[in-house]
Amino acid sequence: MDNKQLFAIFGNPVSHSRSPIMHNCVFKNLNYPACYIRVHLEDGYKLRETFIALGLSGANITVPHKEAGFQACDEIRGFANIVGVVNTIINENGKLIGYNTDADGFMFCIKEFGNIKKVLILGAGGTSKALTSRFVQDNIDVTVLNRSKNRLNDFTEITPTYHTWDSFKCEKYDLVVNTTSAGLKDENLPAPKALIEEVLNNTNFVADAIYGKLTPFLKLANEKNITYKDGADMLLGQGILANELFVNKELKKEDIRKYMQKSFKL
Ligand code: NDP
Repeated sequence: MDNKQLFAIFGNPVSHSRSPIMHNCVFKNLNYPACYIRVHLEDGYKLRETFIALGLSGANITVPHKEAGFQACDEIRGFANIVGVVNTIINENGKLIGYNTDADGFMFCIKEFGNIKKVLILGAGGTSKALTSRFVQDNIDVTVLNRSKNRLNDFTEITPTYHTWDSFKCEKYDLVVNTTSAGLKDENLPAPKALIEEVLNNTNFVADAIYGKLTPFLKLANEKNITYKDGADMLLGQGILANELFVNKELKKEDIRKYMQKSFKL
């Protein structure tokens, strides 16, 4: 009998997801008896029953089902409790345990920047909220800067420092992170050029959540010789931490990183 474990990613759309190739590359090269598939899920309420019907050992959850992932679990551990969204589920003896490796994955990917004390986050959407909460948890000073006011209302209890472009006064930062979708499907900067220039002239490092292209924001940072990480590094970080949970730490983190990183070249 084949006793391979089965893992999956749930999303809608999900056909573009790089997760199957990332995780399968690790399983195959490290001879771990598991396989990872994509599942297109229309209705988030069906996540739990689909997970169980497929006999999954674990799963990742992507847009738009991360909140449904939280609801589907019997128990939530770690940072997922703070943000209320789950991107990784583990089947622990029939109980579904929910985690969130997105923000921890980001922290993992910026480790080589050294000691980060002051951060500016551009954008106030879901990604910004998760990263801001994670930075605050580590006592890092975070300012959030957004194009419009509405979404900033969600930040009143997370960080005392949030601005729209009009009220913002630039300070010195260790890291500036673009979490807006500016540059994803267009060639826009995440704020007016003069403001972005000022911000880049006052930071040591830069990161962007967008992957698959060099955004205008990163292009400008690159021209100014600022060391940067793109969204692929973030994707890699959350993937490594999710894989560690899938294999219950039976594989070494450095080996997981090596083969997951290799999958980005496939
Ligand atoms: P949301 O839709 O929740 O938020 C989008 C944010 O971008 C808002 O603050 C919005 O501002 C701002 N925005 C959109 N267009 C512009 C623009 N032209 N100029 C300035 N600000 C703009 O998005 P998410 O947080 O879900 O995702 C954000 C980005 O992160 C996406 O590009 C996504 O692909 C990427 N991502 C990458 C991940 C990875 O693993 N690498 C993981 C998750 C997301 P306003 O409030 O004014 O509308």
